[in-house]
Amino acid sequence: MATTRETDSRKLLGRLREVMAEDAGGQTRLDQITQLIAEEMHSDVCSIYLFRDSDTLELCATRGLNPEAVHETRMRLGEGLVGRVARTGEITNTDDAPGTHGFRFMPETGEEAYSSFLGVPLQRLGEMLGVLVVQSKEARQYSEEEVYVTEVAAMVLAEMTELGAFVGEGAALSARHQQPVLFQGATGQEGAARGHVWLHEPRVVVTNPFADDPARELDRLNEAVEELRVGVDKMLFSAKGGDKDQLQVLEVYRMFANSKGWMRRIEKDIGRGLSAEAAVEKEQSTARSRMSQVSDNYLRDRLHDLDDLSNRLLRILTGQGSQTGAEMPADPILIARNIGPAELLDYGRNLKGIVLEEGSVGSHAAIVARALAIPLVIHANRVTTEALNGDFVLVDGDQGVVHLRPEDTVISAFRDKMAMQAQAQERYTSIRDKPAQTLDGTRIKLHMNAGLMADLPSLESSSAEGVGLFRTELQFLVRNQMPKRAELSQLYSRVMDAAQGKRVVFRTLDIGSDKVLPYMKPNDEPNPAMGWRAIRVGLDKPGVMRMQLQALLRAAKGRPLTVMFPFVAQLEEYANACAELDKAIAREKILGHPLPASLEVGAMLETPSLAYAPEKFFEDVGFLSIGGNDLKQFFFAADRENERVRRRYDTLNVSFLSFLEQIVQRCEATGTPLSFCGEDAGRPVEAACFAAIGLRTLSMRPASIGPVKSVLRRSNLDELREIIHAARDRGDQTVRPVVLDYLRGKL
Ligand code: PEP
Ligand code: MG
Repeated sequence: MATTRETDSRKLLGRLREVMAEDAGGQTRLDQITQLIAEEMHSDVCSIYLFRDSDTLELCATRGLNPEAVHETRMRLGEGLVGRVARTGEITNTDDAPGTHGFRFMPETGEEAYSSFLGVPLQRLGEMLGVLVVQSKEARQYSEEEVYVTEVAAMVLAEMTELGAFVGEGAALSARHQQPVLFQGATGQEGAARGHVWLHEPRVVVTNPFADDPARELDRLNEAVEELRVGVDKMLFSAKGGDKDQLQVLEVYRMFANSKGWMRRIEKDIGRGLSAEAAVEKEQSTARSRMSQVSDNYLRDRLHDLDDLSNRLLRILTGQGSQTGAEMPADPILIARNIGPAELLDYGRNLKGIVLEEGSVGSHAAIVARALAIPLVIHANRVTTEALNGDFVLVDGDQGVVHLRPEDTVISAFRDKMAMQAQAQERYTSIRDKPAQTLDGTRIKLHMNAGLMADLPSLESSSAEGVGLFRTELQFLVRNQMPKRAELSQLYSRVMDAAQGKRVVFRTLDIGSDKVLPYMKPNDEPNPAMGWRAIRVGLDKPGVMRMQLQALLRAAKGRPLTVMFPFVAQLEEYANACAELDKAIAREKILGHPLPASLEVGAMLETPSLAYAPEKFFEDVGFLSIGGNDLKQFFFAADRENERVRRRYDTLNVSFLSFLEQIVQRCEATGTPLSFCGEDAGRPVEAACFAAIGLRTLSMRPASIGPVKSVLRRSNLDELREIIHAARDRGDQTVRPVVLDYLRGKL
């Protein structure tokens, strides 16, 4: 009995293949397919509904229902039995359709005569494309085997839809991957870019879902699985002794790769006429649709693992993958689910823009993108599913928006935006060699933030007066293992060479919180931003800090050196860190190594507590730099990584400005040099306010120097100060509106 049915599915697939092989238009194909499925299923009706837009399904072909209803009958997602299948992604199989909850009567189709209804989702890798429906007058439940056959047909149809098989004359169907799509993500790095898609991991497209010879397909599958197992074992072997979490993931991979259930399901599908790759993809699709419904994090992660494993297997089977032979476009916009910092650095400045499905503002990829000044949009949900290599794409890093295959109107609006940016850029270039001097004659020093060797050329191009913050952790983050002292020392030395005598403030390692080194055991902390990070790690486990301090002393080779300790919360921490530095100097002396010509040592002011440190601290510390990113998050108790709250409080809130003003005054009283190096220093309106309350040195991304200088040169700090104080006296919450008014008047 079972064999006869299996033969049926093979027969159906065989006939489907014949239809697909014919040189026919899209609609003709759809019509032929509904006819043959109805025949093979011994059913009165077979219909195909496809999404017209994200919310509406359209009857696109039918055998059995009123042909006049084709392209006329539409339903919303969730409406009627068809809409419900599309919404839930679950099969509906009933012998009494009109009596089933949710049934919607559509008189134009003449479907009231049909009792039984089998609706199967048309989906590809968890992405819903439409619904395949089979109906009969006879009141009967479709058997398990019949459901299976319909599922296989649906899968093949979905694959063909993906390949654009149903586009063409009269089809009234737009091909997938040809329509414009807008993604609303979040800003990772500001800036606008236009270019062509370059997929970090191109999707595998199954071009041949059918196979005549199941035995051959099974052999292909077994060979591929063997290759996969060997690959996973190799990864496991090389990871032994490494990070526990990574090992755990690989163990799970191995478990899946050896999983009998997984293999059995794939083998069964091959036995029924699918090619090995189509069978793997069918299994992957099931896992993906489960993934979207599972809320348990652990389970979701495991389904993710299974998805990755299926991808690997598909690459082996089809020979597709990153080595597709495709050529990177001249203006590549990198699209990826996620990407590691080292991989991103490999692409380097070639990239015009980056779009990620996952990621976070503080992720390593975002840090690198920022360092390279490449516009980045994160949380662009499903972008890897929609984009194809070579697609035209616009990235708006300011708004966190991505336009894939945009309409002409969007392209021209975007062109205007980019032209305005280019004009502004020209303006900045024209004042490149002019000082950041305000109308009242105050000189503001503009420095740049850096963290990679790749940043240093910007020192010249931006005309920054120095590097106000060199985030040394980036070098640790982009590697797979802890860098050695000699390597670090060489790197720091090259940084100083490139700076050509300009001051570089080397901030010692700030790890923990959002910056977790790939080769260090992550600490499961409830509140990492307030946890064991930066100087706290440095003082508790001084090995790495000592190594870094030595590397810095040696890199200086007799040149001046500036060192800054991050995240200092109280005097004692600063004193202890200085004691470590003194020890390192004493050791260098004993070894006979040259000492820096001069040494400046300072601290970052990132915790409110330090603003209230005893006078002695302000007298002792060589200089202070306000880390506004952290300081603001602790001042307002609003996580800088949490999209929901990170923009909730304005930096120009009078409370925060008053707090900053107090810090300025304390530093003035003791003559302590003070700068501001958080992201806000690079925002022109904020920068003007900081200058007005007394800050004289600002450190920012190189790209912000032009815009900040331009605004400062048009501001009178005495006037601005008055405006700020008046707003505070009036009881305004933020000074932004009045300051904006003032600055607009100066344009
Ligand atoms: C800051 O907190 O403002 C800062 C400059 O340090 P980071 O952003 O690296 O935490
Ligand atoms: Mg910080």
